[in-house]
Amino acid sequence: MGRFTHERVLDNVIQIIDNEVYMLLIEGNDRAILLDTGNGVGNLKEYVDKLTDKPYEVWLTHSHPDHIDGVGWWNKAYLNAKDFESFISKEKEERLPKLLERGYPDATIEELAPKFEGELIPYKDGDIIDLGGTTLQIVEVAGHTPGCSMFLMIEDRIMIYGDAVGRKSGLWSTSTASDLVKSLKHLQTFDDKYDRIMRLHHGLWWQKGFAKEVLECAENIVAGTDARQKIPFGFTDEQMYAAAECDINDPECNRLDGKIGNVFYYLRNAK
Ligand SMILES: [Zn+2]
Repeated sequence: MGRFTHERVLDNVIQIIDNEVYMLLIEGNDRAILLDTGNGVGNLKEYVDKLTDKPYEVWLTHSHPDHIDGVGWWNKAYLNAKDFESFISKEKEERLPKLLERGYPDATIEELAPKFEGELIPYKDGDIIDLGGTTLQIVEVAGHTPGCSMFLMIEDRIMIYGDAVGRKSGLWSTSTASDLVKSLKHLQTFDDKYDRIMRLHHGLWWQKGFAKEVLECAENIVAGTDARQKIPFGFTDEQMYAAAECDINDPECNRLDGKIGNVFYYLRNAK
């Protein structure tokens, strides 16, 4: 069964949709990149191979399963070196139970991406990807994961935020609120380089401005002056908190004051 749909959102960008997460096929004149690989249900390589006749490489924005689990269809992928430690490619049998619970109740073992056994190639902040007429620059915005990275489309003046910053910018790994403050100040140095934002969940296009709100939240966490609202759900048993008060009955957890950017975090990262 078809697991993916796609839409050409710019002359040089195709958005591929896998349930609640997106991947981007970005094409230059000479070559292309596939940004992220989704949840690993369905043969993504076969799908992407039909979308482009250009040679392409696979680049990963960060190490979370909903972005990397399809990578086993390829034998080579690029990832920020700081996310190598948290990159875990599991066997299909291990992945299936969680997928059945979360979004893929009819998933079968046969359609899952194989475990990634290929070569992981490190990239770092500042690296340039030249596709011919379309150039990308890596902007590391650590917090969500230690090596979480944004991709600046230089000519198009678009910053692909990915999961790094958003409504629930999460401090769920080892990064602290101070790390996030530092990252967001780094991001601010690119403010005059882009006009629009793409994210990889909850809608592709976003208006500029909420990164400032996330920075405010992160600074408040460090100072101990944030709302520190208990969130009654999470990924594990560990208690999660929101920096700015939000509506926990709303699936998007929108802020009560109408602003967008927020930080969800564990207390161990509140420093
Ligand atoms: Zn993520």
